[in-house]
Amino acid sequence: MRTPASTLAQFAIAGRSGIVTGAASGIGLAYAETLAEAGARVTLTDIDRDGVQREAERLRGEGFDVRADVLDVADRAACTAVFDAHAAAFGGLDICFANAGLGEGPGWVGPDGARVPDGQVDSYDDALWDRSIAINLTGSYNTMRNAARLMKAGGANGGRGGGSIVATASNAGLILEPIVPMPYHPAKAGVLHMVRALALELAAYRIRVNAIAPGPFVTNIGGGWAKKDPAVRAAFDATIPLGAMAETHQMKPLALYLASDASSFMTGSTLLIDGGVALGAPK
Ligand code: NAD
Repeated sequence: MRTPASTLAQFAIAGRSGIVTGAASGIGLAYAETLAEAGARVTLTDIDRDGVQREAERLRGEGFDVRADVLDVADRAACTAVFDAHAAAFGGLDICFANAGLGEGPGWVGPDGARVPDGQVDSYDDALWDRSIAINLTGSYNTMRNAARLMKAGGANGGRGGGSIVATASNAGLILEPIVPMPYHPAKAGVLHMVRALALELAAYRIRVNAIAPGPFVTNIGGGWAKKDPAVRAAFDATIPLGAMAETHQMKPLALYLASDASSFMTGSTLLIDGGVALGAPK
């Protein structure tokens, strides 16, 4: 690899193209904004038709080169078509954020510390398990395999080949959080190990695959609970070693790092960004 002109030059992604799933809201929208702000051409995808079109329209209004596509990541045929449309529009694929996910359903413990009847494994709603696995785990597989397909086909990075795939897992893929829905834990742990498996398989093609494991960010996940009740929010903030939930702009530098050549020697890694939650509650 050529020695870059400067450290900052290693973060340059202008002219490359990226696709983001779950880009109408929260962390996915922050990823899409990061790529666009850095001069990449971006396809925002989401199951939320109005949301993804609204955000793409807003970014186009700010002068960015973005397009929108409706995509349910659990729909295999739709994934293939949406990735093909991205490649046709932008001449290949350099960067993919496999981000779409959800955290529906109760944990086995509620915010008040009491057991939640519907959150116990022996009475859990099978439909919630099925949806979590279908979207959080299988949806990531559907997304990453299409990214690998296009990146292998070449044309990415201005004909240099390779690419960067980043999956949004969760700190709940590494630690147990009783208030988080049980199926979310194995789904996100599965994403982390799939990232490692694909990183090894795809390294020979210079396709890097890494995972971000966020802790609590203020988004619309779980019905946007963190935006609704200041008292619940304050009590939760008090459990976080760095003192408060994160805002999505705090994700952007890490997203650019992983998307760009700044992380050129990194693959199969999990980057934990959780305010210290995985370290345990402050004493
Ligand atoms: P969010 O609800 O604000 O955004 C998620 C987006 O994904 C929404 O726009 C939603 O419409 C979309 N989506 C849902 N199901 C989809 C599907 N089947 N196909 C395509 N799009 C779909 O939530 P967020 O917090 O930004 O979540 C983004 C990712 O971050 C998820 O994978 C989530 O598990 C992960 N995560 C979030 C947190 C957090 O505290 N916010 C913590 C750890 C991990």
